Amino acid sequence: MTQGLSPLLVSHPVFHTPRHTGRHPLAIRRVGALIDLLQTLHWLAPDQYHEGTAASRETLLRFHTAAYVDALQSANDPRADLTMLRETFKIGTLDNPLYPGLYERTALLVGNALAAAELALQRRTVFFTAGGTHHGRPDRASGFCFTNDPVFALSHWLQRGLSRIAYVDFDAHHGDGVEDAFASDPRVLCISLHEQKRWPNSGQHSTPTALNFAVPSGFDDPALAVLLDEHILPALDRFAPEAILVMSGADALKGDPLCGLALSIPALRAALLATLSRAPISMIVGGGGYNPWNAVRHWAALWAALQIDPHPVPDRLPSAARLILEELEAPRIPKSRVAPEWLDRLD
Ligand SMILES: [Zn+2]
Repeated sequence: MTQGLSPLLVSHPVFHTPRHTGRHPLAIRRVGALIDLLQTLHWLAPDQYHEGTAASRETLLRFHTAAYVDALQSANDPRADLTMLRETFKIGTLDNPLYPGLYERTALLVGNALAAAELALQRRTVFFTAGGTHHGRPDRASGFCFTNDPVFALSHWLQRGLSRIAYVDFDAHHGDGVEDAFASDPRVLCISLHEQKRWPNSGQHSTPTALNFAVPSGFDDPALAVLLDEHILPALDRFAPEAILVMSGADALKGDPLCGLALSIPALRAALLATLSRAPISMIVGGGGYNPWNAVRHWAALWAALQIDPHPVPDRLPSAARLILEELEAPRIPKSRVAPEWLDRLD
């Protein structure tokens, strides 16, 4: 990137271990493995890592209803009404299981998103890997998301006086929660590329404040290049955003167990970098991605490319780095289906 300051990675130890268990698609180690990999490769200088603090209840109320924040805060109380939590707030469903420390983790997610958004104003590209809960709603959990950290980050930029902000979502699922949050706000342009006939099945049409590109399963690198050059980048150039928040889209990569898109890591990275180049202020959130080998390799190679002097990506990873990838597990991907290149290459 062309900024004068080196990029920052924002995270917190609470995100480095998965909270989900069993066969939940997020019962996979992603952010912790990424940090381990970057440190092993000597790609994460101490002054490039920032830990944010938890958001206050008052901060959560900027987007969420008081009843929902109450529900999150009391969800782990032994006296909690689990039926009400599940039916009214979608907390404790199969998609959004209740786990110990739910409220603390949610508040940390929002607090770190706000810290990342503020740091990005210093014109350093900020990568908040644990972020990207784009389905979260003001009054309920949705699609593995208990809050909506992109909404908080974008709102922070608006509060700080920016008036043309783009949100570009390469995740394989439609960024419905973000689009709806800013549906009547012309200061925020939402662009979402997502798989057709895939939950939440919205985003089939564009609106005055949202450009939606619902693409078929099997959508591949040449198709992405056309969409980018003919639609996404020209739209960004017309809008001329002061800041861009990009969702990294690891579940749009070929080999994701939940989605059917077929992008390669280099092609998706090229699209992300071209998008980020359209504004002087930029932030990336990790988002979905249920193949941990893909997510970790995609994020590591993206981080390498974001540097002022990009780290060269080795043809074959050193053994300590391969070991980190070999130790990953995913409930939806049997070991027999782990491709050899997932273990020794980044792209
Ligand atoms: Zn997704």
